[in-house]
Amino acid sequence: MAGQLKITSIDIYKADIPFHEPFRIAIMEFTSAESLFIKINTSEGLYGMGEANPTPVITGETQAINLAGAVDLAKLILNKDPLDIETRMRDIDKFLVHNSTLRSAFDIALYDLLGKSASLPLYAVLGGGKRSFWTDNTIGINDPEYMADKALDYRKQGFKAIKVKLGTTMAEDVERIARIRKALGDNLPIRIDANQGWDYKTATATLNALELMGIEYCEQPIAHWDYENMRRIRQNTSIAIMADESLFDHHDAYKLASMGCCDYFNIKLAKSGGIHTALKINAIAEGAGIQCMMGSMTETRLGLTAAAHVVSARPNIRYADLDGFMFLKEDPVVGGSEYDVGEIHVPEVPGHGADIDPKFLKRCECVTVK
Ligand code: MG
Repeated sequence: MAGQLKITSIDIYKADIPFHEPFRIAIMEFTSAESLFIKINTSEGLYGMGEANPTPVITGETQAINLAGAVDLAKLILNKDPLDIETRMRDIDKFLVHNSTLRSAFDIALYDLLGKSASLPLYAVLGGGKRSFWTDNTIGINDPEYMADKALDYRKQGFKAIKVKLGTTMAEDVERIARIRKALGDNLPIRIDANQGWDYKTATATLNALELMGIEYCEQPIAHWDYENMRRIRQNTSIAIMADESLFDHHDAYKLASMGCCDYFNIKLAKSGGIHTALKINAIAEGAGIQCMMGSMTETRLGLTAAAHVVSARPNIRYADLDGFMFLKEDPVVGGSEYDVGEIHVPEVPGHGADIDPKFLKRCECVTVK
């Protein structure tokens, strides 16, 4: 019965997973995922699992920062009711205003518990029906020839959309897309992401040069804080603009929508601080006639599965970029979403349905708050 469940302890695991190869975007290069797994244990023996995969240059967090913060957040929720998610997350969001990735790990674990205690898959708890959907696969910044080969490889594997990281110079970026488009032929959509790498003039000129190359949309052309110029860029190109680093929570969503800065929102649980705020962003988007993508950092399939349930439950989330785990050398997740090339099937079991292999957790440093 609601109200009787109590949080008895929280296990915080430090997990490092190397990448297959360095992955470069305009503002940084990734070589490993330095994450935390959060396990929230309850009086009924049920537990919920969450994941925090920080991106310092975007969310201002590192693994060490989050390890310290996780202990504080764990103390905030200890002995409390895990099913009152709105209150738990209100306390957490008030205590720690940034650190969205860390907050999302707690939120995901609480929603996992909600599903388990209701004996329902998370998408059903969220009031949605099950649907399968496709993710794209992403190519990091590299030489144009290497990127074109990679795009062709993704097409051969069966992916239905390719996402390409850009954001260096106009000449390089236009050559990258020209080579990739030539390799792919005309039919496969290309999504581009400048990760704030351009300024207003470069963004406008580059997007104008790419207009006939079959670009589905462009993520975050310029600096995250520059809403006014994002609005101007949108007015000066026919390529649809998607806000990513400019959009963390529902307050950002409201401002971006009111100012007419973008055509799409890229929601990520790692930016929104979890599912509770992701739902608020999507509601504002629907009200404003904006469709969303659900994106990812480089989470394992645990974080990605939680995100996949939200996509499954909310048809206004039209696109998915949930390919993060494909960059990682190891997949420590038991259960979770199944990927048929890029087609994602969410699990039917109670909660989000993803867990971490106990053998993997044994290798991780662990702190318990009780
Ligand atoms: Mg992006």
